[in-house]
Amino acid sequence: MNGPGHCPDCRRPVLWTRTEPGVSTEGGKRLAVDPTPNPDGNTAVDRDGTGRYVSRRVTEERPLWGPERLHMPHPATCPRRQTQIALPQGVIRLADHRRKHRP
Ligand SMILES: [Zn+2]
Repeated sequence: MNGPGHCPDCRRPVLWTRTEPGVSTEGGKRLAVDPTPNPDGNTAVDRDGTGRYVSRRVTEERPLWGPERLHMPHPATCPRRQTQIALPQGVIRLADHRRKHRP
């Protein structure tokens, strides 16, 4: 599944993405993100050449760029999982950075 869908746990609308390989992850996994971009999120979402949604963790080394949009990973907001998952420390806020660099 890729694109708009629903969380199997809480039934809220989500955007299904495929993760890109990262520094410590292989990628290729499914990740649900909240469908509305969120400056407090830590996941960059973009579409690949075939129109599929792909996502990756935003880091200081690889900040948000180009057409990417910042989203909150759904497991961080899912009411069914709220107690299990917290955003890792060191997640950087990009809202100010983006405002500065956008025309
Ligand atoms: Zn959910």
